[in-house]
Amino acid sequence: MYSKYLQCRTVICRRKNVLYSTITETFLSQYKGSVRKWEFLKLQRSNFHTTQRLHYPTSVILCFGTSLCGLYIRKWWLRQTPIRQEKLINWYRKRRHILNGTLGFMSLILFIYCLTCFERDPIVKKSRLILFNQTQQIENAKILYNLLVRNEDNVVPLSDPMYARVGRILKKLSNSNQEIFKDYHWNVTIIYRMFDILTVPNVLILPNKNIIILSDIFNFITSDDQLAFILAHEMAHEILLHTTETISWGIMCDIATLLITFLFWLLYEKRRAAILCSGMYILSSSTYAWYKRRCETEADEVGFQLAIKSCIDPREVVVFWEIIKTLEKLSARKNFHIPIFMHHPSSEQRKRKIIEMMPAALELRRKAKCPELPVWDPKDYLPYYRKVIEKLIRKRLKILGMQL
Ligand SMILES: [Zn+2]
Repeated sequence: MYSKYLQCRTVICRRKNVLYSTITETFLSQYKGSVRKWEFLKLQRSNFHTTQRLHYPTSVILCFGTSLCGLYIRKWWLRQTPIRQEKLINWYRKRRHILNGTLGFMSLILFIYCLTCFERDPIVKKSRLILFNQTQQIENAKILYNLLVRNEDNVVPLSDPMYARVGRILKKLSNSNQEIFKDYHWNVTIIYRMFDILTVPNVLILPNKNIIILSDIFNFITSDDQLAFILAHEMAHEILLHTTETISWGIMCDIATLLITFLFWLLYEKRRAAILCSGMYILSSSTYAWYKRRCETEADEVGFQLAIKSCIDPREVVVFWEIIKTLEKLSARKNFHIPIFMHHPSSEQRKRKIIEMMPAALELRRKAKCPELPVWDPKDYLPYYRKVIEKLIRKRLKILGMQL
């Protein structure tokens, strides 16, 4: 019924507290079924910039500019005669109470402001740094959406069965986690390529609760239970406020890095400043990566619980991580990563975490009055799944003129 309106860009379907609808650039319309309601919203175009992993080039340029600034001021200072330097030092000494006091007061105001920017998430009850209000988050999401999707033709049409499959799983997740999901309206967009370039099996969530699914993921998952876990993991990121907290910490880290870079180039000679800056970048990148890995682990734990409550087979999640491990091995993706800079724990670590949580998951399943698990173990099919993945990767590499 709704497929003939397909100029759709994003699908949101509302069933009780789950929402699937369609964002178009051209019209606003609605499909009203007995239970489902299709909504067509307007997509607003914005310019791209910002955030987390996507703003690295900007950060690098800013750091480079700050270093040059510090270096220029240092050189200017060294060019001054000792008398002139003495004069400037005296000028500062006379006003140091005012200058230091102003700086201290501004830092205190900033510190107090930051303290007011903490929010507690509804599940783990941790305090999270949130520097953006709702409107700014939506604006950030629009920018990211445009950056990721790039082109209207990159969006899978609403008539595609993938949407129905995702909708069915979202409904199940929503019905079994009503107390948590009651205030959340999830949007789903399925796209062919990331940035309209990369075909990768990936799923991510934007700060406006828009889940972006790369259609390639459907080539690798082998059951709806695995998809339920993936979606629940992304939803957990949003519920735990990771999407906004990550951007907030990213900005704080950037500001601190720029300030320290400036001071290093101002106070030390070139070689020492370069060494100190390199050390600081390694430290800040590894700290940020550690924070990101912690978020992923947290989202895995909470997402797994959300998915379990919708009666998935927990063994399917172990199979999923095995599939990802195989995929990484075949595409040699792991070889390019240095563990301390990785933003995600390894697939093996994530699989082990799920196995650790298995007894609690079975108990949660029992409490949710889920049906008994099938007698056959999905892990028994792993050799077959591996062969299928290998065949697929070989085929892709052949197209690229490469060999496995
Ligand atoms: Zn994640």
